[in-house]
Amino acid sequence: MNDLSPVIAADKAHVWHHLSQHKQYETIDPRVFVEGKGMRLWDATGREFLDAVSGGVWTVNVGYGRESIANAVRDQLVKLNYYAGAAGTVPGATFAQRLIEKMPGMSRVYYSNSGSEANEKVYKMVRQIAARHYGGKKWKILYRDRDYHGTTIGTLATSGQDQRAMQYGPYPDGFVRVPHCLEYRKQWDVENYGERAADAIEEVILREGPDTVGAIVLEPVTAGGGVITPPEGYWQRVQEICRKYDILLHIDEVVCGVGRTGKWFGYQQYGIEPDFVTMAKGVASGYAAISCTVTTERVFDMFKDAPEDGMSYFRDISTFGGCTSGPAAALENMRVIEDEGLLDNCTLMGERVIANLIALMEKHKVIGDVRGKGLFCGAELVADRLTKEPADEKKVQAVVADCLAQGVIIGATNRSVPGFNNTLCLSPALIATADDIDLMTNAIDAALTRVFG
Ligand code: PMP
Repeated sequence: MNDLSPVIAADKAHVWHHLSQHKQYETIDPRVFVEGKGMRLWDATGREFLDAVSGGVWTVNVGYGRESIANAVRDQLVKLNYYAGAAGTVPGATFAQRLIEKMPGMSRVYYSNSGSEANEKVYKMVRQIAARHYGGKKWKILYRDRDYHGTTIGTLATSGQDQRAMQYGPYPDGFVRVPHCLEYRKQWDVENYGERAADAIEEVILREGPDTVGAIVLEPVTAGGGVITPPEGYWQRVQEICRKYDILLHIDEVVCGVGRTGKWFGYQQYGIEPDFVTMAKGVASGYAAISCTVTTERVFDMFKDAPEDGMSYFRDISTFGGCTSGPAAALENMRVIEDEGLLDNCTLMGERVIANLIALMEKHKVIGDVRGKGLFCGAELVADRLTKEPADEKKVQAVVADCLAQGVIIGATNRSVPGFNNTLCLSPALIATADDIDLMTNAIDAALTRVFG
């Protein structure tokens, strides 16, 4: 391999890494990745890693080094790389049609380039619907404790993870928090926990006034908030409440979307009928930047009233929503998932991750709870199973570091808040084999032994 030390030096001197405290690089070098193939990555020092987090943040659903996606993007770029605004492109139209085929009940696709942006589009649509159809009422948007919807000021106003939002306010008005639904950390001592957690949303709606609430945004399975799978009965009740009060249901599929849970979309696991669905990461598995805001025809129609006043259409553009690389990559990404049977593999391998983690609970009392859907799995670590006191944050990080030293990249949620859902996270590409899964959980086993004894 070429000497890549100048590249590491350049990175150290000039790149401001995401989510990183750079003080650490006074004593160590930043990691620079050079190559990826399938589930594996190589860094600039030549070290090989097994990637159990799909590119760090649940993105590379079909794995690294896909020549067919690179070729599809290349072919499209030399034909037509871009056109934005009030016109379509061939891959944009074709992917929209293919996507809608997978989403019965949905109808329209609005393109942009990040999860935050896709969510922010919904917030703008909801406000415009309120202004034009509800006399300025129904402008509030509910969001849930522990959910996350993006990094812009608008989407941070709906961050249920305070540590991400706390230094960047003040935020715009009209975003209201509802309680989370994590049964492991019970807020109500009842049998039908799912319904109770959903009823808590209704209580907030009644407090705010149903005629002021336009929409609610929810992750089907909460990602960064600690891999929170919904309790039985939760979604059915949420849907009922939305219908009862004429509240639009926005499902944030930025993580769950395009196969991560073993179905095309996480909401399809729970029989939800959304009004808005947003997606980003897995849409093109990181081969291009693309996100989609998908709506029903009913929502779309609300932007067609009184066209003569020139104000009814959605007055929004995303410059790079006109890049054709996104839908070209997304189309090929979808074909790969279908032709290789990756949804079924995801379900099967997800069950293996959960079974392996549950088996580890016998040996490691520090594992308090195991949760997941498809290849989207977490193990919450606690200092005491009875009190559920969270495990020491530094030790949780030591487990992640130990796995890395073994050559396995795993994740842990909510690093910056001591005590908040210290959940180890496994979210490998949907191509993972049984051997890959066992390597990952064996690494966790060894790390837990070393760190917690
Ligand atoms: N929604 C969810 C559920 C996410 O996890 C994320 C990113 N981690 C986002 C939205 C924001 O996506 P992006 O970083 O592409 O803006």
